Amino acid sequence: MTKSRWFLPGLVAGLLAAVLLVLRGLDHAPAPVVPASDRTAFSAERAYGHLEDLVGDNLPHPPGSAAHRVVGETILEKLRAYGYEPELQEGLKCSPLAPGCSMVRNIIAVRRGAGRGPAMMITAHYDSVPGSAAASDDGVGIAVMLEIADLLTEREPLLHDVVFLFSDSEEPGLRGAMLFADAHPLMQRVGLVVNLEARGARGPSAMFETGANNANLIRLFAGAVPRPATSSLLFEVYRRMPNNTDYTIYKRAGVTGFNFAFSRQASLYHSARDDLAHVDRASLQHQGENALAVLLAAGAVPLESLEAGGDASYVDVGMRGLLAWPASWNVPMALAGLLLVGLLAVWRAPVRLRAAPWAVLAVAAALVLVPLTGWLLSWPLGRWPDVHPLDHPYPWPGRIALLAASLLAVLVSARWVGRRAGVAATMSVTWSVLAILSLALAIWVPGAAFMLLLPVLAYALVGITGLLRSRDLPWLAAAAGFAVAVWSGLYHFLLADIVFGFQLSHLKVLPLLLFALPLLPLAVDYAERGSTRAFIGVLVLVTLGAATVAALLPAHTPDHPRGVNLVYMQEDKAAPRWLVESFGNPGRDTLAAMGFDSRKQEILRYGVIPREAHVKQAAALGLPAPVVEIAEGRELGGKRVIRGTVRSQRDSYIVMLGLPADAPVEGLRIEGQPVLDKQSAEPRVVGLHGVGNAATRFEITARPGVAFSLAVLDIAPLESSGEAARLIELRPVTAAPLHNGDQSIALERVQF
Ligand SMILES: [Zn+2]
Repeated sequence: MTKSRWFLPGLVAGLLAAVLLVLRGLDHAPAPVVPASDRTAFSAERAYGHLEDLVGDNLPHPPGSAAHRVVGETILEKLRAYGYEPELQEGLKCSPLAPGCSMVRNIIAVRRGAGRGPAMMITAHYDSVPGSAAASDDGVGIAVMLEIADLLTEREPLLHDVVFLFSDSEEPGLRGAMLFADAHPLMQRVGLVVNLEARGARGPSAMFETGANNANLIRLFAGAVPRPATSSLLFEVYRRMPNNTDYTIYKRAGVTGFNFAFSRQASLYHSARDDLAHVDRASLQHQGENALAVLLAAGAVPLESLEAGGDASYVDVGMRGLLAWPASWNVPMALAGLLLVGLLAVWRAPVRLRAAPWAVLAVAAALVLVPLTGWLLSWPLGRWPDVHPLDHPYPWPGRIALLAASLLAVLVSARWVGRRAGVAATMSVTWSVLAILSLALAIWVPGAAFMLLLPVLAYALVGITGLLRSRDLPWLAAAAGFAVAVWSGLYHFLLADIVFGFQLSHLKVLPLLLFALPLLPLAVDYAERGSTRAFIGVLVLVTLGAATVAALLPAHTPDHPRGVNLVYMQEDKAAPRWLVESFGNPGRDTLAAMGFDSRKQEILRYGVIPREAHVKQAAALGLPAPVVEIAEGRELGGKRVIRGTVRSQRDSYIVMLGLPADAPVEGLRIEGQPVLDKQSAEPRVVGLHGVGNAATRFEITARPGVAFSLAVLDIAPLESSGEAARLIELRPVTAAPLHNGDQSIALERVQF
C-alpha cells in the first residue's frame, strides 16, 4: 500500500475541504439574481418588488385582520393589472385536523392554455401566523406566483390552463386548500400541483415532495431545472414526519405534483423577524426559477404522461445536475455491488478466520463510537436546552467538532481493534457490511439506497477493473469508495441540520458514518505502518478547540432569535397576569430583563391545558370578555345537546373553545360542521380563526348527567402601550415574538 505518512491525513483533509466547498451551497440558494430588466426569465428583483407591495409594512396578516384584507386586495389588484379576472372563494371551513374553523378567502386566477385537458395549478398561502409578517413564509411564494402570472401573459399559451391559487388559512390548518379541494369546481380539472412553501428564511429551494409514482415527474424535473436541490431521501424523510403543507390535501385527493421549500435560518420561521429585511433574494430567485421551469416543462407535455412510471431514486450533484434512475434498479444494483465486493474479498486474500472477528469488531466499534462522540458533544454544542433545535447562528465550529470527532472515532477503532485484523480483512469486512446495508436500504427504504449504493459501486467497480487488468490496487479501490462516501456523508450531514439540531448530535452525526466506515480500512493501513499518535493528537485538539469555540459563541442573535411572547392573560378581570410564553428556554437574560422570576408557576394554557410558565401580576386592562349565549340545552336520544353562540367583542384573531380533560364531550359542531367527533381523555382546544366579532354557532354533544365547564377565550394582538409597551421594550434583541406573537387573552368560563 502507500508509503507516505502524509498521504492519508492529506487525502482526508483535502477531500473534506473540496467537498465542503462544493456543498456549502446547502446553506445558500445557488441562483444568481436575474435583474428586473430581463423579461425572458424569472427575476427575483421584480418579485422582490411584489413582496415590498405585499408586506413592506411588515404587518402580521392572519385571517380576519385588516392587514390580511389589504394583502388580499394587493394580490387582486396586481392580477387585474396583468389582465386576469381573479375570483374569490369565500366561506367558513371547519375540520377536525388542528380542530377548528377558518373564515377562508381564497384568491383564484386562471391563465388559459391551448388545450382542453386537465389543468396545472401553482399555489402558495397568503395568510400569516398572528406573530409574523411572513415575508418568507409564504410571502416569497406569493411574490413568485405574481411574477409568474405576469410573465405567462407575455408568452404563448401553454398546453394546459394554469390555475393560480393564492390560498388562505394554511397556518391554522390548511383550510384554504381544503375549501378549494372540497368545493371549487376547478379542483376536478387539476392534474398537477406546484406548491411553494418556506420553513425558514434562506437556503436552496428544495424539491422535497412529489406525488406517488414519480419516475416521469423526476425525469421532467431533471430536464427542466437548471440548479436542482433534491433527493429521494428528502421524500422518504418527509413522508415519515408529521409536517403538512397545502399539497398534503391535493396529494390525498390523488393529484400529483411538486412541493418546494427553503428551510435554512429556521429560527426565523413564524417569527416576528420573518420580515422583508430577512428575505434572501437568492432563495426567492431559486424558488421562482424552479417553479417556472417545472410549469413550462409540464405545460408542454400531456399531464397524464407524468403520473405513471413507478418511483425514481435521485440525488442532486452539488446542485449542478441530477442523478436519477428507476427505484426498481436499486435491488439489482445492490445485489451486483454485494456480489462484486464478495468476489474481491475472495479473489484477493481470503479473510483468515482468526482475523474476521476482529474486523467485525472494528466496524462495530466505529458504529458505536461515532454516535457516542456525537452524544458527548451534544452538551457543549447544544448548550442544552438553549440553542434553537434547527438553527444556529454560527454552525461551522460545531460541524467541525463533530467531523473531527467522527474521524477520531474511526482512527481509535482502527488503532486498537482493526490493526489486529489487518488491512485485507478490515477492507473486505467493511465493504461487505456496507454492501449488505445498501441492499437492506434498497429493499426497505429505496429512496435512501443511493447513499450507500454509490460508494459501494465505486469501490467494487474500481477494484474489479484493477483485477481484470491483473493489477490489484486495493488502496485505490478503497480510496475511490471513500471519496464518493465523503460526498454522500457530508451532503447528508449538512442536510441533517433541517431535521436535527446540535442537542441531538448523536443523531446529527449518523450521516458521517457513511464515510467513517469506508475510512476504516485506510486507517488500519495507516496504523499498521507507524504511530498514529500525531494524527490522533491533532484530531483531539481540533475537536476540543472547535467544541469550545462553539460553546462560547452566542446561541441567539438578532438574526437568529429565540421565540419569546409576552402574553396578557385575563382569566379574572381583577387579577390579570403577564406570562412569558417561550419555545424552548426563554433565557435568563430575557427573564431578568423583563422582570420575571426564574421559577415557573402552574397555569392553564387556553384555560384547560396544565403547563408551567413564568408569570407575574399585571395592571388590569379590563378587556371585554367574549360573550357566550346558550340558546338551547336538552337531551336527545340519550345525549345532552347544547346549542349556543360565541362572540368576541374586540376584533380578536382567534376565538377559542377549551374543553378540560374531564368534559364528557363526544362531539362539537361549529356552524353545522364537525370539528370534534369523539370523546378524549385529554384537554382539547378548538380555534375559530378569522371570525372577527361575528356570533358563531356551536353545538356540543355530551354524555348526560356529568357537569363540566367550557373555557371561551379570545386572542388578540397585544396593544403596545402602557405596561405592555414597557415590557416589550425590555425584551432583549436576541428574542422575538413567535407563532401567535405578543397577545392578550380574555377568558370566560361557562358551566354546563
Ligand atoms: Zn407556510
